[in-house]
Amino acid sequence: MVATTERDGSTWYECEECGMLFDDQGDARQHEETCDSEEPSYIQ
Ligand SMILES: [Zn+2]
Repeated sequence: MVATTERDGSTWYECEECGMLFDDQGDARQHEETCDSEEPSYIQ
C-alpha cells in the first residue's frame, strides 16, 4: 500500500513494503505493483 507522508513541506508517497519514497503517486503505485519485498527471500 502506498502511504502519503509530508516532508520538508512536500508530499511524498511511500511504499509501505520497503519504505521507498517517491515524489509522484503514479510512480509509487507502479513500484508497489512490482515491489517484491512482500515476500522477502530470506524468510523461510
Ligand atoms: Zn517497495
